[in-house]
Amino acid sequence: MTDTDIHELDEDTVARIAAGEVVERPASAVKELVENSLDADASRLEVAVEEGGTESIRVADDGHGMTESDLRVAVRQHTTSKIEGLEDLEAGVRTLGFRGEALHTIGSVSRLTIRSRPRDGSEAGTELVYEGGDAVSVEPAGCPEGTVVEVEDLFYNTPARQKFLKTTATEFAHVNRVVTRYALANPDVAVSLVHDGREVFSTTGQGDLQAAVLSVYGREVAAAMIPVEVDEEDLPPGPVDSISGLVSHPETNRSSREYLATYVNDRAVTSDAIREGIMGAYGTQLGSDRYPFATLFLEVPGEAVDVNVHPRKREVRFDDDDAVRRQVDSAVESALLEHGLLRSRAPRG
Ligand code: ADP
Ligand code: MG
Repeated sequence: MTDTDIHELDEDTVARIAAGEVVERPASAVKELVENSLDADASRLEVAVEEGGTESIRVADDGHGMTESDLRVAVRQHTTSKIEGLEDLEAGVRTLGFRGEALHTIGSVSRLTIRSRPRDGSEAGTELVYEGGDAVSVEPAGCPEGTVVEVEDLFYNTPARQKFLKTTATEFAHVNRVVTRYALANPDVAVSLVHDGREVFSTTGQGDLQAAVLSVYGREVAAAMIPVEVDEEDLPPGPVDSISGLVSHPETNRSSREYLATYVNDRAVTSDAIREGIMGAYGTQLGSDRYPFATLFLEVPGEAVDVNVHPRKREVRFDDDDAVRRQVDSAVESALLEHGLLRSRAPRG
């Protein structure tokens, strides 16, 4: 028998394979960059993409920024300012990021430029240019306080990944969904989205959720939304402490789930339990394959929910899915009932 040729992959190959796990498509890069801006306490956040994000992605914020040394460290693998160790994770992280891999992985599969100036009164900022995972230059640069990240030619050096990209329209739809999720969750941040030079939406950053819904989904949908606001004492038993947000009149519905925007502890998630709870409340009021608009925020104690799921996936798992489903159903149902929007239905067990 001959030896199998088992050998170590070079660093570059490892990095690119790993990158594909985190950054699957332009929308995943947008998600990471938007999360970084929100974690940096931005009050303004501009996302501009070209060709669905395949040509370029630009995310600009007015957050706390980075010094030159921060910036040099930030693009390295597994570097984060957000957690110290496992204890912090187990206690339940509230920042959106914590893995310290986004900038590094995006940088290894694109041409990445970051300009940043900290909010500490620094005279100038720093521009770092990265290409395929290597720093090309780090130089002082004039820029406003905050951070601008530009990602060009995503996957230029990973043709296999590039091949799996869909049409511009599809890639942009994913980007739009990501930015919409964060705009709705952060009405106090002025969020704008521009595609190929055309503004898709912008929120004022000065309104509440209702105002953000108006900016993002338009007048017709905004007018059809009713509030949900239920605390623990009015929920059936289960892990959820409170449920709040907006859901639409049953008549205002769509054929896609895309308008179910759900959050656990301010993190945008998908969850079968939450979705089934919402759908259960509407019952037969919706036609088959019709979905309402819903923007719902659940507060759940850290230990009842696992946020440490795969970075690319937004599914969240609860220790008791059934209870969560009943709690969401009950909260949405009482909101609809209060507004006379449900035909009475037989009580369920
Ligand atoms: P993570 O978000 O998991 O910490 P990232 O690779 O996304 O990892 O970012 C690394 C670090 O770079 C962050 O922890 C943060 O300190 C810094 N950083 C990234 N983006 C920004 C930004 N827009 N503004 C300020 N700091 C940032
Ligand atoms: Mg991050």
